[in-house]
This record gives sequence, structure tokens and C-alpha cells, in this order.
Amino acid sequence: MRENHSLNRFVPSLLTLPKGSSLGILGSGQLGQMMGRAAQKLGYRVCIYDSVSQGPATHIADEVMVHSFDDQEALNHFASKVDLITIEFEHIPLRALEILAALKPVHPSPRVIEICQNRRLEKEFLHSHGIPLAPFEVITTAQELERALHHLNAPCLLKTATEGYDGKGQIALHPDDDPFLAWDTLKANRAVLEKKIFFLAEASLIMARSSSGDIVSFPWQENVHLQGILHTSATSPPFLGEKKARALGEKILEALEVIGLMTMEFFVLPDGTLLLNELAPRPHNSGHHTLESSLTSQFEQTIRAIAGLSFGSTELKSEAVMVNLLGDLWRDGDPPWEVLLNHPQVHLHLYGKKEAKPGRKMGHFTILGKDRENLLLTAEQLFKQLQPR
Ligand code: AMP
Repeated sequence: MRENHSLNRFVPSLLTLPKGSSLGILGSGQLGQMMGRAAQKLGYRVCIYDSVSQGPATHIADEVMVHSFDDQEALNHFASKVDLITIEFEHIPLRALEILAALKPVHPSPRVIEICQNRRLEKEFLHSHGIPLAPFEVITTAQELERALHHLNAPCLLKTATEGYDGKGQIALHPDDDPFLAWDTLKANRAVLEKKIFFLAEASLIMARSSSGDIVSFPWQENVHLQGILHTSATSPPFLGEKKARALGEKILEALEVIGLMTMEFFVLPDGTLLLNELAPRPHNSGHHTLESSLTSQFEQTIRAIAGLSFGSTELKSEAVMVNLLGDLWRDGDPPWEVLLNHPQVHLHLYGKKEAKPGRKMGHFTILGKDRENLLLTAEQLFKQLQPR
């Protein structure tokens, strides 16, 4: 019988990552910062690799490497320094992931990341596994866009296949809009045209899967986006569907054989139907509240999953509302933080980013309490008091 010469053949199978080992994280954003802290808490060293310097994760790392993701020599060197590799954002060139995966375990696997970094692959994968999605068509030319707009015949969103996040790389279109102008404006080779969904709410579910196939789920949360960027996440959504979301999630994690965390973002329709909007193979902004609200945070659960440790409890200790703090708040200098610091149930997180730009995620706060509706109200009042005058 012929042997299967897969890239992973030379990688020893991972049981439990011994304490003192080095975790390599690709990317240096706030997710890497919070994951890195969780890894250090569990006794690991953290080495960050990114193509840009001074990201939030570099402030807490034991070691930092700043090199292009095309630099094979630097990638080899990084792999020689670490025992296990993960990502904090999914837009890492696939070639870099393959080089690293030939040398050290990479979780989630390059295949999972490849699918999740490309809307077209992601939607085709989900569709082929029977996961309900908004009606969509793959677009590669203005002519195809013209046909698809005509075919869907409804308000739509044109989204780039790669590199789009936080509402970037998206154009809202109506059936009678000029497809040629829209295609020129998008500046992409490949895109997805998706029917605009008139949803009741948005929700996200974060699940983790271990190398032995065990799956755990955090309770889901309701998310509100403003201009395509997450504004708030609140625990205990007032609508049904969590069980259905978990069943869909399990199907996805098993089909992808994920090792690590997977976040699923859903549109919840007025009749209770769930449509999956997007996958993220990592901790997610909507799960930041778990740092304070949950017995185990989403960041620690990621490290537990990829390092072969047992899972922590995902039980909520408290209801919570998380609010993102975007660079817009810094227009007239630092916001008046005492508004948040003086509140006994508020936890403020600032990521230490040098420059505050409109739309850039600079930090977040989480407010804890018993009553979800009160929390939402108080969170908005506090947020208002942070606005530049
Ligand atoms: P995305 O980057 O695709 O997750 O989009 C960011 C946000 O834009 C979503 O969370 C929704 O609030 C909104 N959005 C994206 N796609 C659609 C859609 N097909 N219909 C309605 N709203 C959408």
C-alpha cells in the first residue's frame, strides 16, 4: 500500500503542549494580545509574527518577529523558535501557512483558514453542507454582476471574496444600479453578490473543538452592527434559535475538523429562520465579554483547544454587554475614561494602538449585571458620555 506523503507526516502528533513551550501567533492585533495573555497565564511563551510592527500583541509578547509573510527564511526561523502555531486573523497568505504547517503543528489547519479567508470558498463549502445562507452568486466580471443583479432582483450587497472585514470591501446595490460602475468601484477580481437580508437580529455563536473531536459551545450573543462594524454584543438574546445554531455549528466544526475556536455569525429572521453570514476560525469581537462574564474566556478556550488541554466551563457568571470603542471617539483627544472607571461593574480594555483613526477598534468595555435590558440602556448612556463634544 502506498504511503500518504502529506505535509503533516513529519509533524509529531500533538498531545498536550508542555508548560514552558512557545506558542507562535500569526498577526499582532488585539485578538493576539488577548490570546497571548491567556497563553501566558497557562504557562506558555508567546512569539508574535507579523508584517507590521507595534501591533497590540507585540506589547505583551515574549518575542516578536516583524517580517513579510512571503519571507520563507523568516518563516523557517519562526517555526524553529515555536512549538505550536495559531492565527489571530485569517488573512494570512496560504503559502506561508503551508510552509509553517510542514514544520510545526498549525491550528486551525491551513485548509480551515483557506476556506474562511475567502467568502466564495466559505459560501460554497457551507452551501455544499446544507447550511442555510442568504441567496448569493459568485461574480468575476461586470457582465456577471449585471446578470446576477437581474436574477436576484432585490437589494443586494456586493462583497469582495478576500480581505473584506468590518464592512470593508462591500457595496450596497439595487437591481437598477449600474453594475459596471459598481464593479469598477469594488476593484476586485472576484466577489460575491448577496441578497440583502431584512433580519430581526444578528447573533453569533462561538464553539471550540479539540483534537479528539470534543466540542463545547459558549452561549450565543446578540450583536448590533453600525456601518458594518460591531457596536455591541449582549448575552442572552431575547429570541429563540440557539439550539438550532449549535446543531449547525457542530456540523461545520466536524466537517472542517477544526482544532481551535470557530465563530459563526447568523442573521435571525422574523420567522426564526437562521442564515449563516460568516465564519471566523478564531476568537471573535463578539466574545470579548467572556473575559469577565464567563468561567472561561474565549481566549483561554482557544489555547486549551489547540494545546491539547481539557476545556474550561463556558457557563456565564453574569449577563454582560460589550461596547466597542472606535477611533472616532478620540477626535478631540482622549475620551473621559472616568465615566467608565467610576462604574463598579464596567471593565475597560484599551489595546494600546498608537493612532486613533475613524472606524479603528481602539478598545472596548464590558458592563456586567443581572438585567440585560438595564445593561443595554446603561451601556448606551455610558457610550454617549464618551462622545467628543
Ligand atoms: P460582513 O463583513 O459580511 O460580516 O458584514 C458586516 C455586517 O454588514 C453584518 O454583520 C450585517 O450587519 C451587514 N450585512 C452583511 N451582509 C448582509 C446581508 N446580506 N444582508 C443584510 N445585512 C448584511
